[in-house]
Amino acid sequence: MEGPLGGRACPGQKPTKQKENLPDGDSRDPGSQRSAYCIKVKGVVQGVGFRPFVHNLATSLELSGFVLNSTEGVLIHVEGAPPARLDSFIKRFSHELPPLASIECLETLQVEPQGYQEFTIRESFWAGGGYVLVSPDIALCPDCLREMEDTADRRYDYPFINCTNCGPRYTIIKNIPYDRPETTMAAFPMCSRCRAEYLDPTNRRFHAQPISCPWCGPTVWLVASKESWNPEWAEIRGIIPALDKARSLLKQGRILALKGLGGFHIACDATNEAAVRRLREVKRRNNKPLAVMCKDLQTASKFALVGPQEAALLTGSKSPICLLPKREGTSAICGLVAPGNKCLGVMLPYTPLHRLLFREGLEVLVMTSGNWSEEPIAAENQEALHQLDPLVDAFLLHDRDIHVRLDDSVVKVCSWGRAGCTKGQRFCAFSH
Ligand SMILES: [Zn+2]
Ligand SMILES: [Zn+2]
Repeated sequence: MEGPLGGRACPGQKPTKQKENLPDGDSRDPGSQRSAYCIKVKGVVQGVGFRPFVHNLATSLELSGFVLNSTEGVLIHVEGAPPARLDSFIKRFSHELPPLASIECLETLQVEPQGYQEFTIRESFWAGGGYVLVSPDIALCPDCLREMEDTADRRYDYPFINCTNCGPRYTIIKNIPYDRPETTMAAFPMCSRCRAEYLDPTNRRFHAQPISCPWCGPTVWLVASKESWNPEWAEIRGIIPALDKARSLLKQGRILALKGLGGFHIACDATNEAAVRRLREVKRRNNKPLAVMCKDLQTASKFALVGPQEAALLTGSKSPICLLPKREGTSAICGLVAPGNKCLGVMLPYTPLHRLLFREGLEVLVMTSGNWSEEPIAAENQEALHQLDPLVDAFLLHDRDIHVRLDDSVVKVCSWGRAGCTKGQRFCAFSH
């Protein structure tokens, strides 16, 4: 931002002609005097519904201007009258942030009003250099879960459902600012219905960059591994048939490679001793504990002691693996999952795809990183098909590319009640 105070304009701002009859400078009516602010925000402000939030707040106060993502954070130009309305904007702006947003640094500068007629979300502004914190991926939110389970909803059973408050972020970003053309979702042009939602400020998918639906978004398919090739599941196309087959193979004790959010998992039924033993053999993991994914919190409580803090972490937006004390006695999870260990690494289904796997009786799956010991987690389909073939019976693949691979985070709530991140990254915000 250059220029003297009061005369400067926000970067990316095209100066426009002042409105003909603006009450600017009208001393007879100071209450209607138009004023303007340029606000520069740094923090976790991209991919968290920040621009829609700013747009809706400004519009509700009948203020005009624009908001845009830049390589240096989010830039806002807001103007209108009377000044009390702008004061209200600034106050509410920092008090009513979207739940996943956090501000690290905020600069507010009084600038010349430009006579904007409305408040718009502008194309992103590339200033070069700079840094920006991009939101981490966010676990499936309750609203999307409700829609995904509603047979009348057009995203019923759709494994890539997301909204402004949930879905992939960091793992699909190729470049900043965070906008669809800079994500791996650029390969999927929006259908007219998704586009209408994306452009509607009152819609909960307003400017949700990974928005998609069964008509325009990624798809899922299942293929047999060469190692244990079987004509019965050589290749199964289509979301529902592929997921049905994946579930039935898991129930039969087969080992699957599952493409997830930040990479591949290798999965098998955690209650099936033969399957877990085989997984350990092929992965050459002798006694190292394996993490499990439980159907829901209630199921997790059957196998482990879940305190209130752990419950909040497990069901929260970051959904890490929590190390929980095993529940002794009646556990259906076979002992080979975490032999000789008092704790069990537990996570809940954090993506819609994971959620859809837990149907028809599956309760708990071993979910271990899709890699050979000490190798980075596999993320590309071809890479996984090549590397993981000897380890699994089949692959459940999808065509939304993972640009940044991330392993699951592991968290343990310490005795003094604070969660410590012990491994992995899917728990923090990142600079790009
Ligand atoms: Zn959502
Ligand atoms: Zn669509």
